[in-house]
Amino acid sequence: MVQFRYAGIVLLAGLVVFGSATCGGNGGIDSAKEAELKALNKAYATFEMEVPWQLLDDSEKAALEKLYQAAALMDELFFIQVSPDNIAMKEEFERSGSPEEIRFFRINFGPWNRLEADEPVLCDYEKPPGANFYPPEMTKEEFEAWVESHPGDAEAFESTFTTIRRTDGGGLKAVPYPEEYGERLARAARYLEQAADLTRCESLAKFLRARAASFLSNDYYESDMAWMDVEDNVLDVTIGPYEVYEDNLFGYKAAFEAFICVRDPEESRKLDGLKGYILEMEKNLPIEDKHKNLDRGLDSPISVVDEIFAAGDTKAGPQTLAFNLPNDERVRDAKGSKKVMLRNVCRAKFEKILKPIAGEVLAKDQLPLVTFDAYFNHILLHEFTHGLGPGNIVMPDGRKTTVNKMLQEANSAIEEAKADVGGQYNFYYLIDDGFFPAKLREETAVTYLAGFFRSVRFGVEAPHGRANMIAFNYFKEKGAYKCDPGTNLWSVDLDLIGPAVKDLFHELLMLQATGDYEGAKSFIARYGEMGEDVKASIDKLETIPVDIEPVFALQKEIGGR
Ligand code: ZN
Repeated sequence: MVQFRYAGIVLLAGLVVFGSATCGGNGGIDSAKEAELKALNKAYATFEMEVPWQLLDDSEKAALEKLYQAAALMDELFFIQVSPDNIAMKEEFERSGSPEEIRFFRINFGPWNRLEADEPVLCDYEKPPGANFYPPEMTKEEFEAWVESHPGDAEAFESTFTTIRRTDGGGLKAVPYPEEYGERLARAARYLEQAADLTRCESLAKFLRARAASFLSNDYYESDMAWMDVEDNVLDVTIGPYEVYEDNLFGYKAAFEAFICVRDPEESRKLDGLKGYILEMEKNLPIEDKHKNLDRGLDSPISVVDEIFAAGDTKAGPQTLAFNLPNDERVRDAKGSKKVMLRNVCRAKFEKILKPIAGEVLAKDQLPLVTFDAYFNHILLHEFTHGLGPGNIVMPDGRKTTVNKMLQEANSAIEEAKADVGGQYNFYYLIDDGFFPAKLREETAVTYLAGFFRSVRFGVEAPHGRANMIAFNYFKEKGAYKCDPGTNLWSVDLDLIGPAVKDLFHELLMLQATGDYEGAKSFIARYGEMGEDVKASIDKLETIPVDIEPVFALQKEIGGR
């Protein structure tokens, strides 16, 4: 593969590539390439994201139109941020690309495959590691040498909200976002101000005005603070430059994105009910009272909404199920952070991925027990359970420390297993107490088993996958998970699973309560590996989508006007 070193050449080569090989107006693309693209695009199942218009009054509908327009600009801005020639390529594909090329480019926000570490698909060169935040030929060393010899530039160069550009003299300079993204960012600010004038929710209006000011001033502190103060309102808006993952060179520069969501009052009531149970759940943990953490609250507030439009960074590639913002440590110190869960994105993944997986690997008689209610409420309880149990601990020699410090690298898998298994345990508790209907007892047991195959499908190296593997092997050892040797289908023993959940939750909590690093490592070694029977089941899942491509009804209804 040719490595291009200068922006001008990259641009030219990019145009040549799709000018010669792929762009032929009607049917110029060869059928092998189109078939390959179709296979790649099949990883994403489309899912319609509807707008619950009945929850919105006229003022919120009018505000929503302006918010949509501001968010649509985040799409444009992110396309610009991905690579220097991305917009030129996008326009070229939209003019004369094939349907699969256009879909690939739209899903990935560029010619590189986000599921395969940015492998080039619609072009023949690598994505610049610094995206379009730095000159594409600039090396890390050049940046570092510049900052070392110009210490006064360090703050602006390392800022989350600047790009780095070449000067006429061949040096480097930092360009603040309002200057770099000028007119588009100013337009987005105007739409936010208009939306602020329309919404009836004052705390939302305050955030929108503050965020509009940030777009122009490049200072996001006040508007991040205002975002934390937005009360639970029917419209829920998150917009701005947030995450730095697109910057693979330094991880300094924030990418633009937006989430426009609607809050269902019924879901909020349920969530408030759950929050009222936190202390009861802590008291009910299957460990001695001395290990319980009775004065600990929920680490960060949880909010549940339905996404009606997403734009920019978050929409590229796999879809976000939940986000935790803001990232500014000063705001987190002052006000904490907010965890927002996107219920309809969970539903999309449930319908398009989890249910088809269950159909391949679970015993037929248990399939009706795989339900969205069980799936979603377990995700919620997983989050709550992270906030329960030992945190600050005292070692036998009297030393005060934390679970994290004691269990070190073993803690993330143990902590995720604790949240998963404890989520099941707390689910049973809330059913016993009448908070959830009794039918969910069997549904959550079986849905959790289906979720295991989704989670470990691509390996068990990451903490979430490893945590799932630990629970699976433990439950199998206890006879609570069984595989029928004739059909190779899995099922849950609905009598054995309850006690097994309690036993495992106890073991995980005690590893943390006693800060038992060696015990945690050997527990992971004993239960964390994937067996051949699981591998054989996973082999059956190859044709099931990996993620979803949201199709927003809002875009058709407002964007089409
Ligand atoms: Zn977790």
